[in-house]
Formats: sequence, structure tokens, C-alpha cells
Amino acid sequence: MLSYISMAQLLDGKAVRDVLSAELSAKIKTLKSAPTLVIIQVGDRPDSTSYINQKKLLAKKIGAKVMHKHYADSVAQAEILKDIQDFNINDSVHGIIIQLPLPESLDKGALIETVAPGKDVDGLTAANAKFLLESNARGIMPATTRGIISLLEYYKISIAGRRVTVVGRSSLVGKPTAIALLNRNATVTIAHSKTADLKTVCKEAEILIVAMGKAKFITADFVSPGQTVIDVGINALDGKMVGDVDFAGVQSIVAAISPVPGGVGPMTVVSLFQNLVDAYLSSLSK
Ligand code: NAP
Repeated sequence: MLSYISMAQLLDGKAVRDVLSAELSAKIKTLKSAPTLVIIQVGDRPDSTSYINQKKLLAKKIGAKVMHKHYADSVAQAEILKDIQDFNINDSVHGIIIQLPLPESLDKGALIETVAPGKDVDGLTAANAKFLLESNARGIMPATTRGIISLLEYYKISIAGRRVTVVGRSSLVGKPTAIALLNRNATVTIAHSKTADLKTVCKEAEILIVAMGKAKFITADFVSPGQTVIDVGINALDGKMVGDVDFAGVQSIVAAISPVPGGVGPMTVVSLFQNLVDAYLSSLSK
């Protein structure tokens, strides 16, 4: 008797990023000037530097500009605040992001709130969070959330009417993603560290989105056949980058899964630049 292990469909974030980048590149060629993103970095965290380098690489590929404002750990809050205010009124700047995490000495919330909502291409200001809550298309969605939605859309995985579980409730990923899916008519459950019987809550979902920051936490006994699994996690394990999902143990059970690396990560970067081009275009209509 023949036996074989079926493999889930791979939701290839790199391939989709390349398709979306080509679209962005074509769009940018039609613009009068290059959309320009300011990236604010404080200190020298190697992970932040690596994320910034990925953003610079993609910007170069599509014809966008990046201005990297790099401050020492000891920088005063007032200095960054003043610079953000200047960028807010500078017409040649279309997007501003603050690379997180920031040193404890700085007030992250106050700095984020200083960014003009129309240039907040990370979608983290209160104004953009409210637009998201209201399902108002004028808002800018956090890049990771936009990336997850685009990945599902690209692979024609329907959202409306489906049961979705989002594991994680951070303001950066879990909550905005849950709201964005709700806005697209999913029936959403948000799970977190106090959720009782997480395994069942995960298994019952048709689409399972995991943003925990816990290496390979979601194993075979958290998933069920037919599911789509989106792994947002980025963790270092034995010198390698792994997700929150035990990919090897889960892929023969579920219908579709995004890998780490090569899933949500590249989608987040391209989504940031989609947000930037949108911000550029809406600045023209002001
Ligand atoms: P976070 O702020 O640390 O939030 C983690 C969430 O997971 C919390 O809501 C926490 O619950 C929940 N959680 C932790 N342990 C749990 C457990 N045992 N059972 C159930 N829930 C648990 O992290 P984040 O910023 O949302 O990021 C999550 C992951 O995504 C990280 O690995 C991060 O590096 C990655 N990430 C990736 C991208 C990308 O582009 N791919 C972008 C952003 C973040 P409580 O609220 O109850 O504590």
C-alpha cells in the first residue's frame, strides 16, 4: 500500500513581495518625485539595523528614498521630537517610522504620537488606530497587518465568514490584525497568555494567526486539517531564525502555512512601502 505525507500549500511571502514590489516600482515611475521615508533609529540593536537594511534594500529596488536618522542611545527626547516635527512639515518627506524597540529612557508613546497621522506609515498613532476601529479606508494600517491580509488575499484564502483565531494581543500586531480581519467580516477570537485551553481555541479556527514571540510554541496538537496558518513570530533558536509555529510538525496536517523566514517578514517590508506610496498619493490631494 502506498502511503505519503501530504504537504501544506506554502504561503510564500518572498514571492508575493516580489510581485507587489514590481507593482510599486511601476507606480513610482509615474510619480513626479520619489516617495521618501524617514527611519528613526536610536542605538545600535543589531536586529533593528538588520530590519532597517531590509527596508533600504527594498526602497532601492522600487525607486523610493530612505533617510536614515540614527541617534545615539543617550539622545534627548526633545531632540527627536523636534526632528519629527520638522519632518511633519517637510513636503519632501512622505512617511516617518520609529524603529522599535526604543531605549527605556525615551517615551515611545509620546514620540509615536508626534508623527503626523498622514505620514505615520507604521499605522501606530491613535488617529490611525481609530480609523482602523472605524473601518475607515483613510487610515494607515500597521504594515504587518497589511502584509498578513495581502498574503491571504494573494492566495485567495477567503476571510469573510471564516473563524479566525489570532494568538497575541499586542498593539503592534495582534490587536490591529484581529480588527482588520473583523472589518473583513471574519469571526475573530483573540487569544493570549491567559486564554484557557489554547489548544482547542487554535484547533477550532479555520485561519490561525500566531503572533506570540515564542519559538515553535504551536505544535501539531494546536492545529487541525484544512486550516490556514500564518506565523508572524520571529525568534532566534540555536542561532537560527524560527517562527512561533513548529513548521516541520504542522505542515503535514494543515492546508496552507507561511514559513519563517520567508513568510510575513518580507510581506511586512513591502506593505510598509505600499503605505508610503499611499501616503505620497494622499499628500497630493491636500
Ligand atoms: P508581544 O508584544 O510580546 O506580544 C506577544 C503576545 O503573545 C501577547 O499578547 C501575549 O499575551 C501572547 N502570548 C505570549 N505567550 C503566550 C502563551 N503562552 N499563550 C498565549 N499567548 C501568549 O509581541 P509582538 O510585538 O506582538 O510580536 C509577536 C511576534 O511577532 C514576535 O516574535 C515578533 O518578533 C514578531 N513580529 C514579526 C513581525 C514580522 O514582520 N514578521 C512584525 C512584528 C512582530 P499577553 O498579552 O497575555 O501577555
